[in-house]
Amino acid sequence: MKLTFIGATHEVTGSCTLLELNGKNYLVDCGMEQGQNVFENVEIPVSPSLIDSVFLTHAHIDHSGLLPLLYKNGFSGAVYATEATANLCRIMLRDSAHIQESDAEWKSRKAQRSGRPAVEPLYTLDDAEGLLQHLRPVPYATQVQAGEGLLVRFTDAGHLLGSASVELWLTEGDVTKKIVFSGDIGNLDQPIIKDPQYVDEADYAVIESTYGDRLHGTEKPDYIGELARDIQDALDRGGNLVIPSFAVGRTQEILYFIRQIKLEGLVKGHGEFKVYVDSPLANEATGIFLQCDRSCFDPDMVELMDQGVNPLVFPGLEVSVSSEESKAINFDATPKVIISASGMCDAGRIRHHLKHNLWRESSIILFVGYQAAGTLGRNLVDGMESVKLFGEDIAVNAEIRTLAGKSGHADKNGLLAWINAFQKKPHTVFVNHGEDESCMSFARCLREEQGFKTVVAPYSGTVYDLAADAMVYEAKGVPVERKAPAEEPAAADAAQEKPRSVKPQQLYNALQEAAKRLSKLAKRFEGRPNKDVQRLTGDINTLCDKWQNK
Ligand SMILES: [Zn+2]
Ligand SMILES: [Zn+2]
Repeated sequence: MKLTFIGATHEVTGSCTLLELNGKNYLVDCGMEQGQNVFENVEIPVSPSLIDSVFLTHAHIDHSGLLPLLYKNGFSGAVYATEATANLCRIMLRDSAHIQESDAEWKSRKAQRSGRPAVEPLYTLDDAEGLLQHLRPVPYATQVQAGEGLLVRFTDAGHLLGSASVELWLTEGDVTKKIVFSGDIGNLDQPIIKDPQYVDEADYAVIESTYGDRLHGTEKPDYIGELARDIQDALDRGGNLVIPSFAVGRTQEILYFIRQIKLEGLVKGHGEFKVYVDSPLANEATGIFLQCDRSCFDPDMVELMDQGVNPLVFPGLEVSVSSEESKAINFDATPKVIISASGMCDAGRIRHHLKHNLWRESSIILFVGYQAAGTLGRNLVDGMESVKLFGEDIAVNAEIRTLAGKSGHADKNGLLAWINAFQKKPHTVFVNHGEDESCMSFARCLREEQGFKTVVAPYSGTVYDLAADAMVYEAKGVPVERKAPAEEPAAADAAQEKPRSVKPQQLYNALQEAAKRLSKLAKRFEGRPNKDVQRLTGDINTLCDKWQNK
């Protein structure tokens, strides 16, 4: 009965934790790292074919994005998730596979031009389709047997449609323990979805800490009023209001608000101003929202639906899908609202809209969600004066605003409300899914101010024995070596090659020398203790597995 922390440790992305129980392996989340990578993650220490099941907290790519890779490498178990999460995964993992394929295609073209071999995508659409066959939807609040001595239940976490905390009851021999993974905990009073639901009891809790050291503010945010002002200001100046938005979740919330703004006539003098949703994924997601079971929604949304109102549609809404339609948006000079993905501006069509609007003093760029360190979105929020887009330097003259308090994540008080709602408090709490400072500060708060006995903020590779309530191995954080920023695919032709100090042939020769050294070392192991031979063999195989598919 052991936990190994793999990802989202002292970071916010790449969520993944391994659970070993009765000789079987399970994962909670299998996410992709996004934005700046601060600490190295250990590899999942078992082969994907030996992973029995995955419990998925929600569909965001930083929690689900490596599932197709797991499948590609041999995983054939079940992926337990709520029904809405399963439905969202169907569009989000296909979209992610598409991004992987086009990224590899671009890199391959570049590699071939310089005589290097083609680049394989991390995974393909076929891998994503294969994985989707393994989804096992489970309704909220329903306990199901997921393996020997393993019961699971999903509780609404109020973060994204379908999002959940995962409660796991673990029995091995005569020991039974309960552990809860908070998943991403939502903010209160979000439109469309419910507030986070609480959990009654657990021996262990793994809690996120995205905003573990921050408060969203005491006043209840007036999103509608604020958004109406942002729209009014941009349109009055003759510019555009550009909203970089996560395609799934945040975009639907913004549509929900704009419907109300239009209904109440809060923006004056611009008639039925146009609102473009320029993201095929966002438009597909809106479809999934509207098909969802009403039990996923908060009472206001249900009331609207009961009245026969479509809460995500209004006059002036333009849903552009093809890239021609997308480009046409920038040739129309009429002031308008443009909602596009990705939310952190590191990929997608939003980058075109930024190129056309950042330099214009009349436009406003409105950020409506968390911006991870190292992303273009974060740089803009932090006041960067010029950015490079598609090989061009673009001056930042547009006004940069953020929708105050708009976050899919609970703030420190929300996290404390979640952890203090237990009737039987967890004796040991693991804090993950927060940047270093936030995660450490929240762990300190739980320990020193909230009276939790054992609070651990594990780094990747940390192993904890749940039956014995004891640390098996406490890993240290290994900072990632800084690399030059990645080039953007669309800038291919304009991209400037960095002068190389070492020639590729020299590097390749050094690699051959390293391989010879390894082979010599292995030969010297004849007659060494079995334990050492096994460990070296394991290490070499892990190394080969790691690089085989790159
Ligand atoms: Zn999330
Ligand atoms: Zn997350």
